[in-house]
Amino acid sequence: MKYFDKILIANRGEIAIRAMRACRELGIDTVAIYSEPDSNALHVKYADEAFNVGEAHPSKSYLNKERICDVARKTGAEAIHPGYGFLAENAGFAKLVEEEGLTFIGPSWKTIEALGSKIGSKRMMREAGVPVLPGTPEGVTDVEEAKKVAAEIGYPVIVKASAGGGGIGMHIVESEEELEEALDKSMRIAQSAFGDPTIFVEKYLMKPRHIEVQVLADAKGHTIHLYDRECSIQRRHQKLLEEAPSPIMTPALREQMTASAIAAAKAANYTNAGTVEFLYSNGNYYFMEVNTRLQVEHTVTEFVTGIDIVKQQIAIAAGEDLAMDQEDVGIRGHAIECRINAEDPLNNFAADPGKIVRYRSPGGPGIRVDSGIHMGYTIPAHYDSMISKLCALGSDREEAIQRMRRAIYEYVILGVKTTLPLHYAIMHNAHFIAGDTHTHFLQEEHIATS
Ligand code: ADP
Repeated sequence: MKYFDKILIANRGEIAIRAMRACRELGIDTVAIYSEPDSNALHVKYADEAFNVGEAHPSKSYLNKERICDVARKTGAEAIHPGYGFLAENAGFAKLVEEEGLTFIGPSWKTIEALGSKIGSKRMMREAGVPVLPGTPEGVTDVEEAKKVAAEIGYPVIVKASAGGGGIGMHIVESEEELEEALDKSMRIAQSAFGDPTIFVEKYLMKPRHIEVQVLADAKGHTIHLYDRECSIQRRHQKLLEEAPSPIMTPALREQMTASAIAAAKAANYTNAGTVEFLYSNGNYYFMEVNTRLQVEHTVTEFVTGIDIVKQQIAIAAGEDLAMDQEDVGIRGHAIECRINAEDPLNNFAADPGKIVRYRSPGGPGIRVDSGIHMGYTIPAHYDSMISKLCALGSDREEAIQRMRRAIYEYVILGVKTTLPLHYAIMHNAHFIAGDTHTHFLQEEHIATS
């Protein structure tokens, strides 16, 4: 079925290509947008049409809402896929797209707006009976009030920006003496990074696991889940490696967590693909936030469920009913994704953009590579350092690990430093092999320092 004739992909790199691949399979024409330094990028070559939308700085190009809508209008695109990052969770953009008479491939702008506030979404979930971490129920403006709540819930606590993302603006506070300074710092960062100084305090869990549930919902409210993902291996609160399913999942925990995820999606009137994120510790789990976009790590869920999430997004956006029920969704095997970043893992993950002088991507059974790079490509310094996602599927976790080791061995990227050696070390780490990971795994295992 052809849901649209033409879709504009408002993104770059691997995720733009990922969305275009779904379009190509569905017989939908694609329009790429690009910034000046991206004129030779792979996503530009892949698309049927491509338009320069401005200068390198994202605010002048990939975040330029009006210009992107102009291109859509000019080219006759009927829908816009935002990918992740840039405008993907920008309610103002989703609203503008709708006002232009185009279809935004994602949830409604109202849902994006409501879930964009960590405070608001926690309130919504608490009311829906989804477990949330104890903390200040509203934004914190008064230090004394924050001290009172923190004393009640007990230290350590974490100060977070309500509008936050990308691990930015979070501060862990060990004792009351540190609280005031952390509040000030978080507030300043929240204002400068997100234009909203609202911050809140919640209980900080020691070495939790990050486990999330992928959901799909159509416009009639038919909501299903595509099981869980484990995303505990992080640096600076950012994911580096994900797996599906979580190695600690039991039938009972899965039943509870997926039921909470569906309750969360329903409470938010969710449509399209989304992710409900939880922190897990000592047998308990707590809602963290809903990501109202396609996630980087959707690939591992696609691998184990066999469902093309981007095609589902497009069908749902076109007003189609979900073509499957919960009973139709199963998981087979185990999948792992390694994020390959142009970064130096031995130098505090400093970005290492530059020219790729040799490139050969792995293949063979159970391997999937989503990348936006090629031999001779110069990685621009202006954007995200993630250049490729390497995924391995095995009949079980052990085989997935063996395949990932083999694929890392095959993967040749010369000219820039990458996180490939780091992933190789993780694949041989005894705790990782045992499935015994948490959000401080990299520091604790001395695989990375930050
Ligand atoms: P962002 O939206 O900036 O990515 P999240 O709220 O999703 O921030 O949290 C990102 C990561 O930060 C989590 O995966 C976890 O590692 C850590 N984190 C966040 N909140 C807590 C908490 N209350 N206790 C322990 N770790 C936390």
